[in-house]
Amino acid sequence: MKPLIFHCDCNNFFASCECLTNPALRDVPMAVAGDPENRVGIVVAKNQLAKLAGVRTTDTVWQARKKCPNIVFVTPRHRFYKEISDKVNAIYHEYTDYVEPASIDESYLDMTGAPEYYKLSERALADRLRARVKDEIGITISVGVSYNKIFAKMGSDYKKPDATTVITPENYKDILWPLPVSDLMFVGRATAALLGKKGITTIGELAQLPRAEAVALLGQSESSIWDYANGLDEGTVKPWGYRESAKSVSHGMTFKRNLVTEEEVRTGVSYLADRVASSLRFNGQKGAVVSVSIKSPELKLKQKQTALEHYTWLQHEIADVSMQLINDFWRIGEQAPIRAITIGISKLIMSGEETEQVSLLGDEESEKRKKQDKIESAIAALRRKTGSKAVTLGFGKNEDIGIK
Ligand SMILES: [Mg+2]
Repeated sequence: MKPLIFHCDCNNFFASCECLTNPALRDVPMAVAGDPENRVGIVVAKNQLAKLAGVRTTDTVWQARKKCPNIVFVTPRHRFYKEISDKVNAIYHEYTDYVEPASIDESYLDMTGAPEYYKLSERALADRLRARVKDEIGITISVGVSYNKIFAKMGSDYKKPDATTVITPENYKDILWPLPVSDLMFVGRATAALLGKKGITTIGELAQLPRAEAVALLGQSESSIWDYANGLDEGTVKPWGYRESAKSVSHGMTFKRNLVTEEEVRTGVSYLADRVASSLRFNGQKGAVVSVSIKSPELKLKQKQTALEHYTWLQHEIADVSMQLINDFWRIGEQAPIRAITIGISKLIMSGEETEQVSLLGDEESEKRKKQDKIESAIAALRRKTGSKAVTLGFGKNEDIGIK
């Protein structure tokens, strides 16, 4: 049976959720922004009217108000968004067991066999999903329908809000190839610039390079974008429940070679802390107990945890605390190489529900954390928007130790 994948994307998700409880917000330019009282808070979502006024995700509250003086700001309510997200996914789940949330407002669905079962065309099925989410939840979604995940995702971006785009082996060249190469998933600014220098500006131009030339130009690890441009993506959709909300979040890695210097350990820790922090933000959660375990080349395991005085989802903080823990129990250096590290965080709560213990932090400390939160939420918003992993926090590419 030929594979059939949907990518369903809720339009202006946080803003749409806010309009559910306050419909008056539909008729005014509005944005969801962290800490609107504070000028440095940033816009994480906005409605169509704000968009038309030029307000962009990652603008500061101050910039947004300059562009659009009558804008209304709303503070994010993550638990509420998660509830709506769960309801939307429950509708998808009626049609397939293979529902894989890619973020709070986007899911991949493996719908292989569904048209035959429901006796509906692919497009009609996608339209039915759109209609149900709109009628039953009150928000709109865009659906990309295709034979692989990448094209399905690009289909949902192609036309929005409230639209279905079907990308087939017959029409993908007409639809996707004229688009700028930067619209292809995982093509960051640096890659687009590199391709631009060779006169490659569209997805089609990249696709039509001989593969060997693409590999020579981009390197082996980046050359998968050539495959994507040609519809050669074999990614599968994970079954429902694969990524259920957990009591703790952890990420670990066995490195390609042992870590020896403090700098190498810091790189590995930064990378893992980023994955932990991204998972937390994805779930709208913060945690208060950080744990680190490391394995020596002889597979000796050392583990330590510490309770923070506040809840956090900051990569920077999780990385710092983890480094302190490692330095407490491990003499980093030649005599004590590290083979694997796992970083975890537990005692989780939904963001926004922490009983603020700001008083425990000095003003200066609390300002520093606010600034860091601004940076990290901007990065998260960018990643959400572009589907790109290009932006990193202090680890970059370290293929040498296995970080891509
Ligand atoms: Mg969305």
